[in-house]
Amino acid sequence: RHQAAADANAVFTSYFNRYKRPASQYFGELVFGESAMRQFLTEEVYDALLASNERTNRLDAAVAEQVAAGMKAWAVEQGATHYTHWFQPLTGATAEKHDAFFTLTPDGRTMEKFSGSALVQQEPDASSFPSGGIRNTFEARGYTAWDPSSPAFLYEAAGGKTLCIPTIFVSYTGESLDYKSPLLKSLALLEAAAVEVCQLFDRNVTKVTPTLGIEQEYFLVDERLFALRPDLLLAGRTLLGHMPARGQQLEDHYFGSISERVLEFMGELEQEAHRLGIPLKTRHNEVAPGQFECAPTFEEINLAVDHNQLLMDLMDRTARHHGLRVILHEKPFKGVNGSGKHNNWSLSTNTGKNLLSPGKTPKNNLQFLTFFVNVIQAFDEAAPLIRASIASAANDHRLGANEAPPAVMSVFLGEHLSKVLDEIESSDFSGVEADGKSLLRLGIAKIPEILLDNTDRNRTSPMAFTGNKFELRAVGSSANSASAMTVLNTAVAVRLRAFMDAVSERIAGGENRDKAILELLRESIRASKQIRFEGNGYAQEWLDEAAKRGLPNAINTPQALAAITAPASHKLFIENGIYTERELEARQEIQYEIYLKKVQIEARVLGEMCMTQVVPVAVEYQKSLSDSVIAQRNLLDLGTKSHVEPLLEVYREVVLHTNKVIELVHEMIEARKAANTLGHASDIAMAYADTVLPFFEQIRYHADKLELLIGDSEWPLPKYRELLFLR
Ligand code: ADP
Ligand code: MG
Repeated sequence: RHQAAADANAVFTSYFNRYKRPASQYFGELVFGESAMRQFLTEEVYDALLASNERTNRLDAAVAEQVAAGMKAWAVEQGATHYTHWFQPLTGATAEKHDAFFTLTPDGRTMEKFSGSALVQQEPDASSFPSGGIRNTFEARGYTAWDPSSPAFLYEAAGGKTLCIPTIFVSYTGESLDYKSPLLKSLALLEAAAVEVCQLFDRNVTKVTPTLGIEQEYFLVDERLFALRPDLLLAGRTLLGHMPARGQQLEDHYFGSISERVLEFMGELEQEAHRLGIPLKTRHNEVAPGQFECAPTFEEINLAVDHNQLLMDLMDRTARHHGLRVILHEKPFKGVNGSGKHNNWSLSTNTGKNLLSPGKTPKNNLQFLTFFVNVIQAFDEAAPLIRASIASAANDHRLGANEAPPAVMSVFLGEHLSKVLDEIESSDFSGVEADGKSLLRLGIAKIPEILLDNTDRNRTSPMAFTGNKFELRAVGSSANSASAMTVLNTAVAVRLRAFMDAVSERIAGGENRDKAILELLRESIRASKQIRFEGNGYAQEWLDEAAKRGLPNAINTPQALAAITAPASHKLFIENGIYTERELEARQEIQYEIYLKKVQIEARVLGEMCMTQVVPVAVEYQKSLSDSVIAQRNLLDLGTKSHVEPLLEVYREVVLHTNKVIELVHEMIEARKAANTLGHASDIAMAYADTVLPFFEQIRYHADKLELLIGDSEWPLPKYRELLFLR
């Protein structure tokens, strides 16, 4: 531990700036993207593949065969030896099973082989991935299927290269077992619904692409100190540890200058990300010491999610090159800000317009308002499901912890747009004519084109409008964004469809189009008013107010997960073909299981650290203190009876806290045993939340007191001071 602190300044330059060229020269070189495809595929095959990217056409077997041949030729030329289907099972990580291109033919020849069928579909031994009871484990049959809309890429590790093919993962009976398949379904639904609404305003819009830019927060700690913390190693967060005298109260880390060592990590990360076609754009320090953020330029949602999953992997691998470990946990340090993943969401058209960007003309602004208002209402309608989609044991420590959005879902619009909506809400549209002049009179034309204003930011809101996009900030830093995006996309799609049906009905009934739209927007604004909140989301007054408004406040994951199988979820997902009932039940079950296992692991680690690290050191110290007290009493005659009192007081405190730690650990173990006897995963999860988790804080209180009493060189765990102030 001391060695690590001493040579933390060692410079890790070997990986930095391997590519002393502008990023544009190597961007995407590890991706089977447009330029590689043009080189390795014939024109017909290339066109057929592009058509399949539109999510409508299926690729036929002959084309798949040729794509596979081209992909293999490209990959082998780049030095790849293996290929794998790359997918996103519900564990939250990504999974892969590598096969070699190398093949021995029956007549003894050797060759590199990769067939169309190996590209399109595979059967990984999927028995160990969570399925929520959908697939009996002994059956072990699920398959992965190629997603041609996300390009294949080469993953470089330990000097070798593997061709990775993004795929969905489904059970043998067709149920989805991953994050990607429902996301793709929700995107198809949203794209279709949004195009229809656009057609009301502009006949040239034939395609709408949902876009996503993911800001990723993370911590970096020294690898050697990390290895000395069983809690970080096994649970991803610290379960013990007292705040250092100086934490983030000076707020001087935010946008502060980045240390050399961290810059080297970031430099390599950016280079490797760029080679993989991930358009990383910004990097900076975050609020907490040791905390950082990076963000790419936004992309089409499916690709943005794949890139974020890949990025998290890359961050982990890159950090190790620099003697660092990246921590993606939502709340690794008590008393220090946690990490999130801000999901910037919008819609863009084939005509180059951002549908959430206010326009120059009244007509454009009416289109903007149509999407803007419908997204707000969709968010209101789906709020409990959004909450469920971001729920995890780790994110529970962050949501509502006065540094992240509260667990109550609300939308922040900013002063100007709030006024615009209030105006529409109280207007009378009976005199609205088709020429758009009346829109001018309504003030709708006056929305400034650029609303982007950094002062008008509300960091306490779970969903904030930031000028030309919505930013869902409640997503956890380690989460797969697909989960929340699937809910948002579906809810918006369904809302837009309902809006379109209502408009069409009114127009068919002879009503003026603009008037019909405005009246419907007014209805939407009224119906979703309760979700709008402009104030401080951390304040108790907001929680009281939210309760009055009837907004749900699921304070932990087991509570939040109930929404997944509630009637509103059935209506949204099953009726629109995103999930079947079985899939919803399976997903809920898996989330309960993951939750209880996470808390179970934490409880074990905490108990073990206390009994094998904290208590033994405390008892040693008790012994040396009592020896000293006796020695003082026997050897020194200072003339007063109480001259041993100061040391005796320290001794008493150490004894008291040590005994409390032992007692509470035993009580926690009893609570765990009781919880484990409950039958269903949901009951166990709730029992863990209500009866086991509360012990963590109590145990920690006494253990952290001991940390302040026991000598620095005896304390067995690296302290926050050492972990957070990375040099
Ligand atoms: P800020 O949060 O300060 O506004 P940026 O403007 O850099 O920061 O945006 C943050 C993220 O939002 C980036 O990933 C960016 O690419 C993304 N973003 C910007 N415009 C859009 C959009 N139209 N759709 C989706 N994401 C967007
Ligand atoms: Mg932001």
